Amino acid sequence: MKSGKVFENSCCYGCGVTLRKKNSSKEHIIPNAIGGRLKSRKLLCKDCNSAFGSDIDFKLTQQLSFLCNLLNIKRDDGEVPKTIKPTDGDYNLRAGGKPVPKKPSIEEIDLDNGMRQISVHASPEQAESIFKGLQRKYNLSDELIAEAKASAQLREEYVSDSLNFPVEFGGSDAFRSICKTAVSFFVHRGGNPCAIQHLVPYIRGERDKHCTFFYYPVQSITKREPTEILHTIIVAGDETAGVLYAYIEYFSCYSCIVLLNDAYRGASFVETYFFDTLQSKEVNKSFNISISLDELNALLDNRQTSQQDIQRAFAMALGIALNKIKKATIHDIVEKTFDDSFETFPEGQIMDEEMFRLFLEKFQERFAPFLAAQMSTRDENFGEF
Ligand SMILES: [Zn+2]
Repeated sequence: MKSGKVFENSCCYGCGVTLRKKNSSKEHIIPNAIGGRLKSRKLLCKDCNSAFGSDIDFKLTQQLSFLCNLLNIKRDDGEVPKTIKPTDGDYNLRAGGKPVPKKPSIEEIDLDNGMRQISVHASPEQAESIFKGLQRKYNLSDELIAEAKASAQLREEYVSDSLNFPVEFGGSDAFRSICKTAVSFFVHRGGNPCAIQHLVPYIRGERDKHCTFFYYPVQSITKREPTEILHTIIVAGDETAGVLYAYIEYFSCYSCIVLLNDAYRGASFVETYFFDTLQSKEVNKSFNISISLDELNALLDNRQTSQQDIQRAFAMALGIALNKIKKATIHDIVEKTFDDSFETFPEGQIMDEEMFRLFLEKFQERFAPFLAAQMSTRDENFGEF
């Protein structure tokens, strides 16, 4: 990539300034915090990028943080999603849906012999800071702390409480972010920025505009594979109907239409982008989208969307996420059991009957609590899990 040439003929779609190496900025077309990898330096100048604000993207990604966490969605810098805090229950969720106690428990008991016994029940990360705190509080020696750490037992537990999270989607900020994604993708694929100029004040938050709305068609736009969770962008221009619109779908479950222009004068076209969030790569999909101007106007007038449609789509995405976690957990159990059972045997040794029996015994020990936790959650909403 030669500098200088990169920005040839590129103008910021926010203000029209010619983009050069110095004033250009990197814009993620789908926010990076929800796994978006498609980016361009030919869309927005630095000033516009900051004026468009990270607030709107933040609001959207916050709403999707529960799925990001469960699916262990990584950002460009490799950072994994932060811990999610459920509204009730005793556990938070770490990346990959791993529960950690909200509050570690510390029990201090005065013994008859004048000694004090302190029991700590916490995750390894929490225990580390608790040990530091105790060392300060009681002025304990490093040796004593090291001894306490060495005697700590690592125990695995399965959470049987239900975890409740606030699940919302939409609202003016999130819709602005979705509109920005649609506009950026349109310009990125060579669309004329003049066609979307009127949306710039809306994205900036200077004006309200009703152009983004939920869209859950009876027949899904793309054929869904049971193991795929996609981010989808489709931008379509219809010369005959004079309409330019985008279909945006996050995590195969939250889908919206953005009406980009209802007096579109350009040629007909369709541009698509399908991103597999689990594989973190672009994929090819067949799709079927055809919305008439009448339908778009009807959707605009009737702002309501069926709660059932959203629930169904969300349950499906959650089902895929939970299955992924379940598979990872089982894989983990098998791996740990192997390590446990065969650490005393030389590597490469052929497994005999005795070894296999030992393996099965250990596997059963580890698997039983997991199975029990599964059975207790079976009757809840997501029966397949
Ligand atoms: Zn600009």
